Amino acid sequence: MSATNKGMRRQRLQQVAFHEIGHSVVATLYGRPFDITIMPRDDGSTGGVVLDPTPRTENRPHLSREAEIQTLLAGVEAERVFLGREQLGRREKGDFGLANYDKARAEGLASYCCNSPTGTKRYVKEMRVKVKKLLRENWNAVEALANELIGIVDGGIRTAGGNVKLPCGRVQEIVEEALEKRVA
Ligand SMILES: [Zn+2]
Repeated sequence: MSATNKGMRRQRLQQVAFHEIGHSVVATLYGRPFDITIMPRDDGSTGGVVLDPTPRTENRPHLSREAEIQTLLAGVEAERVFLGREQLGRREKGDFGLANYDKARAEGLASYCCNSPTGTKRYVKEMRVKVKKLLRENWNAVEALANELIGIVDGGIRTAGGNVKLPCGRVQEIVEEALEKRVA
């Protein structure tokens, strides 16, 4: 493999990691940490990603609609911060399936509490502003999770299904540690 391919794969991996971490950090801040799972493709690059809610038997609150919408929007917003606007714009033209899916789901949820398409758009925009602020305020938690997740990838640690996984309990620990550091 050429050095360029390797570099691109690394960049793609980091991008996917930041995207999924964005979802997970925001869910954790609302009291419901998610597992982060990355599924590498056969060619070694990073493929799809799954966010599993923590086991439902655990006594965790359900996310409110507002928290759920913000959690959905958090993936692309975390990527935006990681990549910078220019690079994201390039990706938006092509490989942006994950983010489009998130956006469609966020708009679907928002439509339940808004009377018109314009109202829905405005509400989603308002949620986006909130989630951006939340991510900026807790960016050290995002970075701490990214270090851990990329460490798992580099260490070659995989689940039985061949995925890279950061369990919700560990996600919560890392986020809490980061929050304590911020206060101190
Ligand atoms: Zn997403």
